[in-house]
Amino acid sequence: MMFLRYATTALLSASLLAIATPTPAHSHGPQPTHDEHNNHDNHDGHNITADETTSPAAAEATPEPTIALIPVADGVYMLTGEGGNIGLSVGEDGVFAIDSQFAPLTEKIQAAIATISSEPIRFLLNTHWHFDHTGGNENFTNSGTVIVAHDNVRERMSRDQFIAALGMDIPSSPTAARPIVTFSDDITFHFNGETIHATHVDPAHTDGDSIVHFQSANVIHTGDVYFNGLYPFIDVSSGGGINGMIAAVDRVLELADDETQIIPGHGALSNKAELAEYRVMLVAVRVRMQAAIDTGASIEEILAMDLNADYDATLGNGFLTPEQFSQVLYTDLTR
Ligand SMILES: [Zn+2]
Ligand SMILES: [Zn+2]
Repeated sequence: MMFLRYATTALLSASLLAIATPTPAHSHGPQPTHDEHNNHDNHDGHNITADETTSPAAAEATPEPTIALIPVADGVYMLTGEGGNIGLSVGEDGVFAIDSQFAPLTEKIQAAIATISSEPIRFLLNTHWHFDHTGGNENFTNSGTVIVAHDNVRERMSRDQFIAALGMDIPSSPTAARPIVTFSDDITFHFNGETIHATHVDPAHTDGDSIVHFQSANVIHTGDVYFNGLYPFIDVSSGGGINGMIAAVDRVLELADDETQIIPGHGALSNKAELAEYRVMLVAVRVRMQAAIDTGASIEEILAMDLNADYDATLGNGFLTPEQFSQVLYTDLTR
């Protein structure tokens, strides 16, 4: 699979990286099993892909990600590359960053930030533990940045993890990659004349999610409680659930007004109206899945019902296929 480019081990396979590289419709195969994963050797070099050893054409077909800086508000930017969207506050106190994408991208990310600030990147807050948001942490720490996150982010990064829905083993992170400042409920940064308030929400995408509010600039980074334009992943193995996703979205909607710029975990820069539509979708898919479960139908029968056909064309071409999304909801609601 070509998506392995930025995996720190070959086990960090396809799916999360496919966010930036939509999977062709014909490749909806079963997820690799736990055992199959364990048969792979680790890779730790830059730009090593599993395909480079077997299929150079596939590697060539995958362009290097482009780092883009999108102005969001005065002193606030969204940086896109591959992995979760990065948020930035830039000013006289330095740079405050949200999330770090993948380790091989760090130099490019730092170079892009250097075009808008000559000040150091002093803080980096992780919205949750997933490696498409924390993969660059170790590099940032080694460059002098202080990593901050909810207590559960450090806890999960300190131990091996297994994401059942993706059949994915994630080894514990090196000490330098782990947040050295953690918080339980919320934390405030008084930085660049801005009040940056990060709030932990009850388990939603994972059990360590934070939403980050730039109060003066009127910008909110949602982390992965919001996937804009694609079905969201809900990491049930990490404590996530659809009801928590909806509750977290409600927290963001409470903070937002019609002028608020919303940086989603994945997808394009957004706003309150679009987030409200996303909430409608979350509630609809929950209600449909619960109703199907209540009939006593099996997962096979439920998948055959094509419950979310009205959303599949617009949301089912990203990280999760419609079938994978339904499977995640089924797993969550039958726990
Ligand atoms: Zn993500
Ligand atoms: Zn995530």
